[in-house]
Amino acid sequence: MIYLDNAATSKPSALALKAFVEASELYFANSASPHKAGRESNRLVESSRSKILKAIHLENSHKCLFCSGATEANNLALKGIAFQYARRGKTITTDMGEHSSVKNACKELGERFGYNIVSLPLNEEGKVDPKELEKAMNNDVILVSILAVNNETGAINDVKKLGEIVHKFPKAYFHVDATQAIGKENFDYNAADLLSFSGHKFGAPKGTGALLYKKTIKFVPISNGGEQENGYRAGTVDVPGCYSLALAFEDVIKKLKEHRENASSLMEELEKGISSIEECSINSPEGHSPYILNFTLKKKKASVVVEALSQKEIYVSTHSACDISSNQGSPVLLAMGKSQEDAENALRVSFSYESKMEEVETFLVELKRILSEIKDR
Ligand code: PMP
Repeated sequence: MIYLDNAATSKPSALALKAFVEASELYFANSASPHKAGRESNRLVESSRSKILKAIHLENSHKCLFCSGATEANNLALKGIAFQYARRGKTITTDMGEHSSVKNACKELGERFGYNIVSLPLNEEGKVDPKELEKAMNNDVILVSILAVNNETGAINDVKKLGEIVHKFPKAYFHVDATQAIGKENFDYNAADLLSFSGHKFGAPKGTGALLYKKTIKFVPISNGGEQENGYRAGTVDVPGCYSLALAFEDVIKKLKEHRENASSLMEELEKGISSIEECSINSPEGHSPYILNFTLKKKKASVVVEALSQKEIYVSTHSACDISSNQGSPVLLAMGKSQEDAENALRVSFSYESKMEEVETFLVELKRILSEIKDR
């Protein structure tokens, strides 16, 4: 199998799986129980929290809230802040390149709860232009939510600059969805008042993730029950999930540079190969993440090519797995100004730190063969 759909999810790492099994066997007691076994489980959760914060030097400024992944973290950040600070203002500013978990949480806040949702355009590189954010900021804005690395194109936003613009307005918080950036792209983590991510994009098990948030921030919880996770996420804590997430997180942050060098050399080869195919046109902008390449097939139907590759056990994607509406064309590509046809016929190839040069070479050979064999659309 050649798995090149790592922006959707990645194989769990041996390190994370071992940690998960060990913690499941040894720390199965409820971390909220009053006995010694419960306290030991709780200690493991607390040490996992500090591992994550320390790995990116946020231990003095931020807290870590464990949750099931970026979808939950994004919903908690958006709705939790919107409800908590409703009296400060009613505007939430986001952009057209966000993942559906941000886009649809905003839609809900707008349609059902009357918030004013401002969605900034993308420039032709698929990024948020800081000038557009500057123009949109005002005293009614309570939250700005912009992702670090786009999951479809690999476009990288200037988190530091965007954060500086938001922070000129003391009532506004800056939320960054860093799901495609953790362990892949270093950025100014401290610029984000709230930062969310999923573990399964960097080798931790599915169903793990976290929301990191500045210590001064409060939320309205979106689920109620016990006092777990500071009362912000009720329910029995997934102790093995927290522990394996923390170990995988530390590992990918430590090896970020080495992994990035590997991904960059694979990406160079991939881009060279794709650029040499006349009917392919690259959508990812200059300086994109070395883990994601998006390109359009000018003559073929992308879904047919994905299926033909899949028959060879080569797995790539047409769009974000969470965006079912993308069957009508990727909203991110449309927001970049691509035509409907181009947006409907894009392929996304995405690497993990384990991806190999032979996989890129085989992918290119098979892609060329398939393009020469199947009919134009
Ligand atoms: N944000 C981004 C940028 C993503 O790529 C994804 C995963 N496709 C998510 C959020 C949601 O992650 P999950 O499905 O793990 O909750």
